[in-house]
This record gives sequence, structure tokens and C-alpha cells, in this order.
Amino acid sequence: MSFTKLPLIEPILEALSAEGYTTPTPIQEQAIPILLDRRDLLGCAQTGTGKTAAFAIPILQILSEQKGSERGQRPIKALILTPTRELAIQIGESFTAYGKYLNLRHTVIFGGVSQHAQTQALKAGVDILIATPGRLLDLMNQRFIDLRTIELFVLDEADRMLDMGFVHDVKKVIAKLPSQRQSLFFSATMPPDVAKLADSILRKPAKVEV
Ligand code: AMP
Repeated sequence: MSFTKLPLIEPILEALSAEGYTTPTPIQEQAIPILLDRRDLLGCAQTGTGKTAAFAIPILQILSEQKGSERGQRPIKALILTPTRELAIQIGESFTAYGKYLNLRHTVIFGGVSQHAQTQALKAGVDILIATPGRLLDLMNQRFIDLRTIELFVLDEADRMLDMGFVHDVKKVIAKLPSQRQSLFFSATMPPDVAKLADSILRKPAKVEV
């Protein structure tokens, strides 16, 4: 199967082709149509399966199809929460690659570095925010970030998030999200505590396992 069989817009197909991607991976083939239908998703998938593109591509397409006026002031529309700085940077690079022919902005925030460059990027306005939990809460508490405009929320590597002790931080972030939203939950494993967290975030999710 080819990416052109999926209901994707031309600027995204061109970006994928520029990346050298010809065929969607199984998680992409299954998840992209579900997400473009605006359904919640529970994805059981490891790193290496192409899960980043499985969520980044539909998020880019959904936001690019919104009217320009809705994005005039660039309120943050999508939040991707991921456990580590390395993953956050990789996800940011994926949005750069797949969104290179679109007029959308994203930024990546994580701890362990000065917050100045991050707050400058936030002040300039972004459509998509990729964050680790600690720095996100920190910048929310300092009023640099307001999550009330979020329409799409991704919790990436949920099992690792819990293993790293981020459960309270994650719950604090979720409490600030609008209840009307599309949520995506990815985890390599689904032990009971992870399944319980998924249950508290998702509404009638489609399930994809690879
Ligand atoms: P991920 O599981 O999201 O960490 O992706 C694993 C790797 O596969 C990344 O280096 C991607 O650039 C690459 N990748 C993702 N989707 C595809 C695809 N459809 N065709 C070729 N490579 C891909």
C-alpha cells in the first residue's frame, strides 16, 4: 500500500516523499484514517514502529485544514507530552520534516536547560507544543502556557512516563485540558496502571495494536 491511498493532502504527501517514505507502516495505515475521523486512539506500539508519524501526520493535516483566521493569534492547538528530552527533540524533528510545506509552527520544551529560548518561542506563537511534563508544568505555573485552547492531545510512551514517576505531573496537565478534545494514548505495554490512565483520558477510543 502507498501513502497516496490514505486521504492525505498534497503538501504532506510531498513531504513524505521528500523523506523517502513510500509505504505507511502498519500503525500508520491503521491510525491515520481513525485520527482524521477525529476519533480518540489507544495505540499499543513500541518505538521503531513509525508511531511518531502515525500521530504527527494527522495532527498536521487537521490543523492545516482549519481556517487561517482561527489560527490568527496562534493559540496552541496540539500538545504532545513525552517522557524524555531525546524523544521530545525527535518528535520535533518529525513535525519539521512532515510539515515542511505547511504553514504551521511548533516548538519543543524540556527541562535541564535555560527556559529563555523556550519562552521566546512560546511568545512568538506556536500551533503545536511538544513537551516533557516537568518543564511544561513549570512554564504553565509561570503563565507562559495556557492549555485551554488544546484540541489535540497526545500522551506518548505512557508506560515509560509512569516508570519514570511522572504520573502526578501527567494528571496535573490533563486536569488543565479542555474536556472537549481529541486524545491519543501510546504505550509499548499495557499493564493495569497504564490501562487505568488510558481509561481516564480517552473517550470511546479506537484500539490499534502493532
Ligand atoms: P518511530 O517509531 O516513530 O520512532 O519511527 C521509527 C523510524 O522509522 C524513524 O526514523 C522514522 O523516520 C522512520 N519511519 C517512520 N515511518 C516510516 C515510513 N512510512 N517509511 C519509512 N520510514 C519510516
